[in-house]
Amino acid sequence: MKTVLVTGGAGFIGSHTCVELLNEGYDLVVVDNLCNSDACALDRVQEISGRTLDFVRADIRDSAALNDIFSRYSINAVVHFAGLKAVGESVAEPLKYFDNNVNGTVVLLQAMQRHEVFNIVFSSSATVYGDPASLPIKEDFPLAAVNPYGRTKLIIEQILFDLGKSDSRWQSVLLRYFNPVGAHPSGLIGEDPNDIPNNLMPFIAQVAIGRLQELSIYGGDYATPDGTGVRDYIHVVDLAKGHLAALSHIVQTPGTVAYNLGTGQGYSVLEMVKAFAAAADKPVPYKIVARRPGDAAQCYADPALAAEKLGWRAELGLERMMEDTWRWQSQNPQGYRQ
Ligand code: NAD
Ligand code: UDP
Repeated sequence: MKTVLVTGGAGFIGSHTCVELLNEGYDLVVVDNLCNSDACALDRVQEISGRTLDFVRADIRDSAALNDIFSRYSINAVVHFAGLKAVGESVAEPLKYFDNNVNGTVVLLQAMQRHEVFNIVFSSSATVYGDPASLPIKEDFPLAAVNPYGRTKLIIEQILFDLGKSDSRWQSVLLRYFNPVGAHPSGLIGEDPNDIPNNLMPFIAQVAIGRLQELSIYGGDYATPDGTGVRDYIHVVDLAKGHLAALSHIVQTPGTVAYNLGTGQGYSVLEMVKAFAAAADKPVPYKIVARRPGDAAQCYADPALAAEKLGWRAELGLERMMEDTWRWQSQNPQGYRQ
């Protein structure tokens, strides 16, 4: 498991995972088309780790480019982050999502098969549980897609289950992320959305830095302690370390296995706003508006299976998530575009 191909490695979660993989001694090849990221993130990854990686700017749907990578490097495993992730856009442009995420993964898996690379760690999401009937969410809960983005994750999971059944050489770990937030403690890499953020944490951070005026809190009348939505926020460095655990585990587990990566602890939107304002020592103006269609009241993981089987658990708490986000945002007010 020496050389790992990281797809989407210039992105938010990919860049943090590259740091942890390099620190652990893996050699990395990153393939990314930079449709939602900046190559500068990879320079920073190398600066933090003090190691180099090889970067190929290419689309995972480009079969020839992938063939070239698998021919040039002796790849042992793939960590597959590349994908589009905006729920609203996926509703408006489903074909874009099926092409990029599903077709992109099929092209990647075909290239892997051709070059006899059968180990893959895939970025799935808690969205595959749809609207869960109870909490906390366990891996054996029923799966459902509630939007085209979620459907791409579900389809890719099913493809990996089918591959595992078709040929015992395939070994896939599906990591179902809950809500990744935070940034590397160096303040050098973090989340840098292209447009106005859809997600809560980058939105709050951009309000605090003055790029956005005010946070709209979607719904104040949920059946939660303070009426605002509750989610399982996980520090991106903890999440990145979950991929190390998955890679060391993958060789011992044939077939396809899914794990929740979350903390098991839910926080409300108002708790998040308060914690961020305290860490940044800045006010975060907000107003409570109508619910966002499709949002669940609460969502949090049962992370026991990952602890038991992968020996992984989240270690960083809310305060670190906030401090590290603020360090990244205040040191890079415009993200990577300085
Ligand atoms: P991101 O957009 O920051 O990173 C994705 C990277 O993939 C980007 O660098 C982008 O340029 C690249 N990419 C996209 N399509 C590509 C293609 N066809 N070819 C090559 N590169 C391509 O997103 P992220 O937050 O780091 O998410 C990484 C993965 O985790 C995604 O698959 C996402 O769906 C999944 N995920 C994210 C979250 C979250 O809240 N951030 C939650 C659950 C799952
Ligand atoms: N949210 C909000 N305002 C925003 C963005 C998000 O109130 O501008 C809320 C959202 O309703 C949910 C929580 O914050 O309760 C997390 O939303 P996010 O989009 O970050 O992640 P999701 O859980 O929807 O994937």
